[in-house]
Amino acid sequence: MLKYAVIVAGGLGSRLDINTPKQFLLLNKKPILMHTIGAFFGADKATNIVVVMHKDFIAHWQGLCIDYGFEVGHSVVEGGKERFDSVKNGLNFIDQQTLFLERSGLVVAVHDAARPLVSKRLIDVCFDGALACGAVVPVVGLKESIRKMGVDGESQAVNRVNFCMVQTPQTFRFEVLKASYSVDFDPLFTDDASVVEAAGFGVRVVEGSESNFKITSPIDLKLAGLLCLGGGGHGFEG
Ligand code: C5P
Repeated sequence: MLKYAVIVAGGLGSRLDINTPKQFLLLNKKPILMHTIGAFFGADKATNIVVVMHKDFIAHWQGLCIDYGFEVGHSVVEGGKERFDSVKNGLNFIDQQTLFLERSGLVVAVHDAARPLVSKRLIDVCFDGALACGAVVPVVGLKESIRKMGVDGESQAVNRVNFCMVQTPQTFRFEVLKASYSVDFDPLFTDDASVVEAAGFGVRVVEGSESNFKITSPIDLKLAGLLCLGGGGHGFEG
């Protein structure tokens, strides 16, 4: 298997700090993105890591790598308007890189930069599953009850056992992902599985992990900090 990890860090938004995209905020004294890259490197040092980043932040990131003495090898690719466009840019980069290679074992994991606590177990399960069946996404069940909201404020209880929350790394054989991303953006494409499914491919779900949450709010950042300390790094699984 030839492994690539596309870490999407092209977002500018942050609900945590208005000036800093969340992937650059410090977690345990190090930018979140360095933890995320480290998780993939730690899982398998042979993984090719591609970080997709908004062009305005590339020089900033290069400066951070020097300041923090961050030496895990990775390529940086310019992001796009939507997450969809950022992933597409990452795939085009991989396409160019592997043009003359045997691609039957080429597998790509697409992972949100703001999920630094992804474990080796989940990364391995996703790569292995994708090689075997083409497309794998990690999911976790819902803990809260949920309601379907109507347009005029009405709501209705729905059975939560019929739903799950989708995480990353969403992992695919390269040819499946590349073929699926050869379309134009549709607002229904909220993740990679939705793109792959729209192209007619089946997607298999695997069990994600509660600790693989996306850092979105200040409380997430605090919790991630505690898990880093308590779990001895990004290997911790809750
Ligand atoms: O906004 P949200 O948290 O859903 O974004 C998911 C991931 O996609 C983030 O890691 C973000 O940096 C990335 N992204 C991107 N390019 C965009 C928008 C989002 O790489 N244009």
